Amino acid sequence: MRTRNAVARDYYGILGVGREASDDEIKRAYRKLARQFHPDVNPDPEAQEKFKDINAAYEVLSDDRKRQIVDLGGDPLAPGGGGAGGPGGPAGAGPFVGFQDIMDAFFGGAAGGARGPRPRTRPGADAILRLELDLHETAFGVEAPITVDTAVLCTTCSGAGTAAGTHLATCEACGGRGEVQSVQRTFLGQVVSARPCTVCQGYGTTIPHPCPTCAGDGRVRTRRSLTVKIPAGVEDGMRIRLAQQGEVGPGGGTAGDLYVEIHERPHDVYSRKGDDLHCRVTVPMTAAALGTRLTIKTLDSEETVDVKAGTQPGSTLRLRARGVPHLRGTGRGDLYVHLDVRTPTKLDVDQEKMLRDFAKTRGEEVAELSKQGGFFSRMRDAFNGHA
Ligand SMILES: [Zn+2]
Ligand SMILES: [Zn+2]
Repeated sequence: MRTRNAVARDYYGILGVGREASDDEIKRAYRKLARQFHPDVNPDPEAQEKFKDINAAYEVLSDDRKRQIVDLGGDPLAPGGGGAGGPGGPAGAGPFVGFQDIMDAFFGGAAGGARGPRPRTRPGADAILRLELDLHETAFGVEAPITVDTAVLCTTCSGAGTAAGTHLATCEACGGRGEVQSVQRTFLGQVVSARPCTVCQGYGTTIPHPCPTCAGDGRVRTRRSLTVKIPAGVEDGMRIRLAQQGEVGPGGGTAGDLYVEIHERPHDVYSRKGDDLHCRVTVPMTAAALGTRLTIKTLDSEETVDVKAGTQPGSTLRLRARGVPHLRGTGRGDLYVHLDVRTPTKLDVDQEKMLRDFAKTRGEEVAELSKQGGFFSRMRDAFNGHA
């Protein structure tokens, strides 16, 4: 910090541009670096210092007079150096505070970097809309009707904002420049600083007779209905972009884009992982032991599958290409059928006898639980290896 104030800083070097760089090149270089080092993007303390430097360099090199001071070997931001930075020094004293301010500076907002009147016609904002769909719809696609609350062009004035037969007037407060300048005399010459004109909000023009429909905004809010074509295979969280279906901009500017964000409702039977589907089917112990044939309802068909004799609990059957169609390319995911083998819970006397006889033929020792045995004797049986 000390050396900074003592020595003129290399503002060209900070932005990585040559001394002959044009205003555009400086702007481009600054924009690129600001995006890279903005604290919202890059929380590293070193990056924050760098961000301050970048802002200071841009403040200086984007201003003809300050740039002239630099070219003469001075530092317009150094205390007593004749800069508009004033007390407080250069640290954090750049004209920009937040990311939006930087964007405003480049896209005609009110912040420091703007030159001249800002346009009344500006691009509209993008909009986002959540669309809830069933698994069947995300899997096979659907034409979904949607309604959006949005801004559309005012048809009364076609976006001009003026009442019929009237026109914009040049702002008298700023003479149409959109900014008010104040001149400060210093030993290095005059330093001009500019603020947006408060009378016309920086437009340079006023609307003496605003359009009665839109009050001068050039657009009105309304509810629109449209149909979105959802392709087969979309996934939860995906966004579909509908170009220029967002809000019309102020003054009838180009509409932004509308993004439709897919939200897939959970399905009663299938859970989805990518393009594969999973479901659970319960089979009785006997069927698992003997083998059986199951009819499985898939998303769009019925399939007959064989459960092999001796199937274990937790086994999985895979039905190829019975999952969700791939969004890109051809083919489909698979359907996995997880088998829950169910043990009978209530046996009548005959069934119990049959099962004990069955166990005996297999040489499987099954201890008889005493009905009054209670929890501890059952525990003991379990530790002794009796089922
Ligand atoms: Zn004005
Ligand atoms: Zn209007």
